[in-house]
This record gives sequence, structure tokens and C-alpha cells, in this order.
Amino acid sequence: MRYLIFSDTHANLEALEKCLQLADGKYDQAICLGDLVGYGPDPNPVIARVREVAKIIIRGNHDKACAGISDAKDFNIWARLATSWTRNELTPEHFGYLRNLPTGPVLLETFGVVHGAPMDEDEYLLAPTDALTALKALPTQLVFFGHTHIQGGFMLSPGGKFQSIYISPAPNDQPTEFSVQDGGRYLINPGSVGQPRDGDPRAAFAIFDEAHRVVEYYRTAYDFGKTQEKMRKAALPDPLIRRLEFGR
Ligand code: ZN
Repeated sequence: MRYLIFSDTHANLEALEKCLQLADGKYDQAICLGDLVGYGPDPNPVIARVREVAKIIIRGNHDKACAGISDAKDFNIWARLATSWTRNELTPEHFGYLRNLPTGPVLLETFGVVHGAPMDEDEYLLAPTDALTALKALPTQLVFFGHTHIQGGFMLSPGGKFQSIYISPAPNDQPTEFSVQDGGRYLINPGSVGQPRDGDPRAAFAIFDEAHRVVEYYRTAYDFGKTQEKMRKAALPDPLIRRLEFGR
């Protein structure tokens, strides 16, 4: 089975469509690691599209905030403004849908998926010390996570050596292949579809070839100018508009 694994779309329809177009024909099943909405201008079309393509979808912290499950108190001012804008924008059906999204981790046959971290869906796995703790406690050899918007991840080699996984500079529209070794442990981040923060503004996703134990990381350029234009029309905060062109 080949899985399309994507995260942190954040209501960016242009980025999502570009990823789906590039991934088309390359996977059997799609999995979404949460944060469908928040920040971006198209929450309803993005929810509809993700529901259409993904078989497994778990919630992210922005999904919870936009659905009123959490209060967004720990968000910065721009994220809070975008959260209240999104709450007003959501149809009752999509609001209800977000409220009922399952919590990670979801465990499949040979790997798991979470939004933030295996023990805590809201934890950011950014620091090597946090990643090492998480790697040692993994419920499966391989777990896909999102939340940090940074493509790559962390690993413990079969010999027990800790390493960060960097996928930069990634070619456009071509896979960067990464092999999962027997005896190793892996936390893999496909990157963010709709708001990358690793200095690369291109949309990110991954495909996991389960039989061959290979992760294919992808980056693809999309028309972020169109997304920015929609955000301006919606009067979403300027820093959120600008960051799309910097990938920060
Ligand atoms: Zn996010």
C-alpha cells in the first residue's frame, strides 16, 4: 500500500489542490494529520476536499480551537484573530465535523499517525531532547507527525544513534527518498501543505511506500499570490499573509 500523508493545510485551497494534483496516481490511500483550518481563507472548501480524499483524518490544535473545543488562549494575536474569523466562516455542518474529528494517535498495521506527538497531540516536536524522548516511547517503529510545519523528522538508527532528518534543498515536484531501516525508530514529518515554516514557501507532503519502507518527501511550488489575495479580501492579518511567501 502507498499512503499519501499530509498535514497542516490551514485552509489553503491552492496549496492543497497543487499537492493533490502532484500526488495523483502515486498513492492508494490518503491520511491527514490535522490542522485542516486556521490561518487561511478557504476553511469550508478545504474541509470538503480533505473529507473527499482522505480515509483517515485526525484533529489538530487549530481544528479544536476553530470548533470551540479549546479557547485559543495560548495562540498569538494573529492566530487568535484567524481563529475567530474561521469560526464565523464555517458552515454548521463543517463546524460539527471539526468538533467530532478523532484524536491521534491512530495506529495502522506498520505505522502510526499523530498531530503533535505520540503522548500529547498538542506537543511541538522541535527540540532534539523532546524528539529523543518521543522516539524512545514510540508505539510503532514509525510515526508520522505534523504541527511544527517543518518537513523532515528525527530518527534513532538501528545502532541507537540519534539524528535529525533534513530534506533541504528539496527538488521541485521530485521525490527525495528516505529509507526506513529494520531496527531503527522514526518520527517523520511530511511538512505543511498550507503554511510551511522551514524557510521554503513551497507546499509539502509525503508518500509512504509501506512495502518498500520508503518515505518520499515532496515539495511543490503553488500560486500563493492567489491565496494571499483571498486573505486580503477577507481582511485576515497581514503577517499571516506575508509569511506564505517566505515559508516562515
Ligand atoms: Zn498547524
